[in-house]
Amino acid sequence: MNSAAAHAGESGLRSLPGVGPQVAQKLAAAGIQQLQDLWFWLPRGYEDRTRIAPIASLALGERVQVEGRVEAVEKGFRFRPQLKVAISDDSGETLVLRFFHFHAGQVAQLTPGAWLRCYGEVRQSGLVLEMVHPSYRRIAESERGEVAGRLDPVYPAVQGVGPARLAQLAQAALEALPPSEEFELLPAGLRAELKLPDLRQALRFVHAPPPGTDLAALTEGRHPARRRLALEELLAHHLSLRRQRVDLRRQGAPPLKARGELSRALRERLPFALTDAQQRVLGEVLVDLRAAEPMLRLVQGDVGSGKTVVAALAALHAVEAGAQVALMAPTELLAEQHFNNFRAWLEPLQIEVVWLAGKVKGRARAAALSRIAAGAGVVVGTHALMQEGVEFARLGLAIIDEQHRFGVHQRLALRDKGARGSLVPHQLVMTATPIPRTLAMTAYADLDVSVIDALPPGRTPVQTVAISTERRPEIVERIRAACAEGRQAYWVCTLIEDSDEVQAQAAQTAYEQLLEHLPEVRVGLVHGRMKPAEKAAVMQAFKAGELQLLVATTVIEVGVDVPNASLMIIENAERLGLAQLHQLRGRVGRGAARSSCALVYQPPLSRLARERLDTLRQSNDGFLIAEKDLELRGPGELLGTRQTGLVGFRIADLARDADLLPTAQRIADSLLADSPDRADRVIARWIGAAARYAGA
Ligand code: ADP
Ligand code: MG
Repeated sequence: MNSAAAHAGESGLRSLPGVGPQVAQKLAAAGIQQLQDLWFWLPRGYEDRTRIAPIASLALGERVQVEGRVEAVEKGFRFRPQLKVAISDDSGETLVLRFFHFHAGQVAQLTPGAWLRCYGEVRQSGLVLEMVHPSYRRIAESERGEVAGRLDPVYPAVQGVGPARLAQLAQAALEALPPSEEFELLPAGLRAELKLPDLRQALRFVHAPPPGTDLAALTEGRHPARRRLALEELLAHHLSLRRQRVDLRRQGAPPLKARGELSRALRERLPFALTDAQQRVLGEVLVDLRAAEPMLRLVQGDVGSGKTVVAALAALHAVEAGAQVALMAPTELLAEQHFNNFRAWLEPLQIEVVWLAGKVKGRARAAALSRIAAGAGVVVGTHALMQEGVEFARLGLAIIDEQHRFGVHQRLALRDKGARGSLVPHQLVMTATPIPRTLAMTAYADLDVSVIDALPPGRTPVQTVAISTERRPEIVERIRAACAEGRQAYWVCTLIEDSDEVQAQAAQTAYEQLLEHLPEVRVGLVHGRMKPAEKAAVMQAFKAGELQLLVATTVIEVGVDVPNASLMIIENAERLGLAQLHQLRGRVGRGAARSSCALVYQPPLSRLARERLDTLRQSNDGFLIAEKDLELRGPGELLGTRQTGLVGFRIADLARDADLLPTAQRIADSLLADSPDRADRVIARWIGAAARYAGA
C-alpha cells in the first residue's frame, strides 16, 4: 500500500461530523474502525420514503410512509399501558398508531390537529388499520408532501449508535469515496467483460438507491450493483483463504519418508484390494506426506467409498517414518468404531493404538495421556484430543474424519497442538459430504482436494422407496421377512427436536412397539442418552449379528459400518435434509446383498419435502444429491454454519451467487499473479475489519 489513495479509507472516521471518542469506540466495537469500514457496512434493507401513501390505499403488511392529522389520542391500560393515536388524511380514512412504550413529552406533542409523518408496517386490529410503534415525526402543515429524494438504507445495528445517526455517518462517509480510478481494484480487462458497475458506482447505489429502484431486485441480490459487490466479497474471501494457505505452507512440516513396509503388510492382510480410486487418493496423500511443507488435504468420498482404510494406510506410512498419528472423529460412536478398526489392523503390526474420549476419566485418562506423551503410534478419539493436558510426543499427521462436523477452528486447534517449534503436523481431513465443485473452490480454497469417486466393487445401489406412515404394518412385515433371511435392519427414529432426551424417548417407544410386533426378532436399542459402554455393547452385538434389528436415533448417522445390514427404515423422513438422509441411507448397501431403504413420511408432504424424497428415490449419487441440496437449501446449511470461512458474508449468498464463483477465482488468479498488493487491499476492505478485530 503505497499510494495516498490506498490510505484514504484507512483513517478519517474521526473526521466525520459528530464522531468523538465515544462514538468512535462504539463503532470500533462493531468492527468499524476506518472510513472504509463504513463504506462496506452495507444496508440490510430499505425504507421507501420517496412517496406518501394515502391512508385509504394501505394494504396489509405493507411498509409505507403516511401523513395524517391527529384526530384523537387515547391513553389506556389494557393488559399493559398503551397509547393509541388516530390520524386521518385527505383520503378520509383513519389509521391508528399504537405505542406500548412512551413518555409524557411524547404524549404532550400529540395534540389533536397536529400533523404527523409516520413510517411503519400496516396491520389490522379488529376493524381498523394500525401501525405498532411506527417511526414518526411531527411536521408543520407547510411541510406536508415533502418526500425524500432517495430510498433510505437500513443498516445492521451498531450498539450505542442510533439507526438515524448511523445512516447519517454512512452517508457522510460516502462523500469521501475516492474517485473510481483510485478505488477500483479489479483488473480492467476482466471488469469490462463482466458488464457490472465499478465499485464506486455500486457502493453509491446500494447506500443511496434513487427513487423508482426495483427494491425487490436490490434486496434479493439480482441487481447489478449488488452482484458487483457480491463478486468482490466472494473474491475477498477466496483470496483470504488462499493467503492463509500460503502462510501455512510457509511453515515447515516433518517430511515423512518411509519404504511402505507397514502399509504393505496391512494391505496383504486386508480381505479386499483397494479400488483404483482409493489407490490414487492414497498416492496423492503419500506424495504430500513426504514433503517438508504441511499437507492440507481433503479427501472427499461418498458414504461407503472406503475412506477409513486410506486413512489407516496413510497412518502406517507416518508411523513407519517415525511420527505419531492422531485420528479425530466427531461422535464417540464413530471414534470408537475407528478405534476398533485401527486396533484390528495395526496391533498385529505391533503398533500401539490409544483411545481418548471425553468420557475417559481418572486413571484411564492419566494412563492414556502418559502413553500419548510417551509416543504411542496412533491415538484415536473425539474432541477430547484437543483438550488441555493432551501432549503429543511427536505428532506428524492429524487425521480428521467427517470434517464438516467440526469447525475450521477445531481443525486448526489439533494442528496447533501438534506444533513443535516451527513445524506443524500434516493434516488429512475426510468428508462424506460431497461439496459441489463451485462451492468447494470457496469453502476449501485453503485445502487440496482428492476425491474417491468410485465405490468398492460388488455394491448394488440401495433401492429407495417413500412410504406413508399409514403403511407402517407393511414395513414391519418387510423387516420380519428380511430378518428371517438372515439380513439385518436399522430403524431410525428422527426428530427435529435437538434434545437427546426427547429423541431417546421416541426411540424407546418405537423399540417397545417393535418388540411387541416382532417377538421372534432380536431387537436392540441405541440412543444418545445411553452410557458409552452400553452403546458400544449394543453396537458390538449388532455388528456380530446377535441383534437383527437396531432401533436408533440419528447417533448412527455418520460413519457407522455394519456391512451385513441391508434394510434401513427412516421415520419422519420428510423432516430431514437431503444430506442427512443420504448419510443415514449410507449405513446400508455396504455389503454384497441388495439393500433397500424405506423413507417413511407423515402425509401430507410439502413441495420441498416431496422433492427431497424424490431426489433420494432417483439417485444414490452423493454429488448429485449435494447439488440438489444446495439448490433446495442453500450452502450455509450444506456446509454447516461452523465453517467460519463462510459465515459472515455481508452481501454475497453462496447459493444465489454461485455463478460468480468461477469469475471470482479467475480474478483471484490474475491479482495474485500480477498485483498481490491489490489482493491484500481487497481482503482488507471486506474482511480486514473482522480480522483486525479478531487479531486485537
Ligand atoms: P466411508 O468412506 O463411508 O468412511 P468406510 O471406510 O467405512 O467408508 O468403508 C465402508 C466399507 O467398505 C467398510 O466395511 C470397508 O471395510 C469396506 N471397504 C473399503 N474399501 C474396500 C475395498 N476396496 N473393497 C471392498 N470393501 C472395501
Ligand atoms: Mg467414514
